[in-house]
Amino acid sequence: NDNELMDTNLRSRAERVIPGGMYGHLNAKALPPGYPQFFERAQGCRVWDVNGREYIDFMCSWGPVIAGHKHPGIEEAARRQASLGDCMNGPTGRLVELAERLVGMLPHADWAMFQKNGTDATTTALTIARAGTGKRKILLAKGAYHGAAPWCSPSVAGVTAEDRAHLIYFAFNDVASLEQAARQAGDDLAAILVSAFRHDLGVPQELPDPAFARKARELCDARGAALVLDEVRAGMRLSLSGSWEGLGVRPDLAAWSKAIANGYALAAVTGNDRYRRAAQQIYITGSFWMGGVAMAAALATLDVLERSNAVEHFENMGLRLRLGLQRQADKYGLPLKQTGPVQLPSVMFEQDADFAKGSLFAAEALKQGVYLHHRHNMFLSLAHSERDIDLALQVTDHAFSKVAAL
Ligand code: PMP
Repeated sequence: NDNELMDTNLRSRAERVIPGGMYGHLNAKALPPGYPQFFERAQGCRVWDVNGREYIDFMCSWGPVIAGHKHPGIEEAARRQASLGDCMNGPTGRLVELAERLVGMLPHADWAMFQKNGTDATTTALTIARAGTGKRKILLAKGAYHGAAPWCSPSVAGVTAEDRAHLIYFAFNDVASLEQAARQAGDDLAAILVSAFRHDLGVPQELPDPAFARKARELCDARGAALVLDEVRAGMRLSLSGSWEGLGVRPDLAAWSKAIANGYALAAVTGNDRYRRAAQQIYITGSFWMGGVAMAAALATLDVLERSNAVEHFENMGLRLRLGLQRQADKYGLPLKQTGPVQLPSVMFEQDADFAKGSLFAAEALKQGVYLHHRHNMFLSLAHSERDIDLALQVTDHAFSKVAAL
């Protein structure tokens, strides 16, 4: 029927008018066979592709959807603001309310500034760090993703050596390599940029070693540099007060995006008073950055997260999924690598360097209505219930059986 052809049809039309047919992280060509490129609608923890097929969604739009697709209260707040005005000659009062809200929630923060995408936030944070210190070098973990600008994009096409001239790489969780990188920066160290945990594509996730986090703080303090935490992916899923708060390590600057407005386009940099003047000195803006709708959605999202014990819910659902998958993998004799925080599930197979097992597993799950990712971490939302996890586990049992037969 026509419906079944919709995705194929859109893809072939896209080949003519979109370079490569699609670009960036949502390119379905990087997914196992059978994954749709185009989507029609979403509700709760479910998405429907343009062919009309329904899936339990374990990607949550790669992070932004944290309260569930089309959360009624958040949609209502966004609609109310949209009916008044969105993009105007200045921000709405939501700008101040949201900054107050983040400063109230995040012990590290004395102020906030807003952008649209995670890349805007990481780039802004580093600009503030350089403005505040008068130094140039940035230390960052090899293989970490911080966005799609020339200084950090995974592709070097169109990137000059100068774009990356002042970056020095260390290995995540490796204190000696961090110290070595700091030595290399000499007296020109502006910042250490680090993600809340290691979530690099295609490798096991790693929670931060407390000694590593403390060393990063210590080096920044000793050198007068900024500790910049990239919360874009982890933010609000590990903690509502900052992902490193539990480690007792507070960043000077933090970059947020993805989940803070439940899918509405918003990013933020939060910072402490040491960097307030620098944040004021840099020039940073965008035509759409002050839109009131996304900020109203963010205020409603943060309310929902606080009211619903969100982190505990993500932990419970994540643990249920992880234990269920582990039981099934054991049953089929398939050694599994489930790593990092349960709230951001990462499921890979041992002895699967080419991801053949992972691809087959995900493709089989997809056929039966469960949308997983085979090499990127996944995401949970408030809309995932025990029943949804259990329904997904019925499907994964079948998918494991196919992998076992490989
Ligand atoms: N930092 C991290 C840790 C991310 O996961 C991402 C997005 N995957 C970014 C930065 C960039 O965010 P955006 O795609 O919104 O620019």
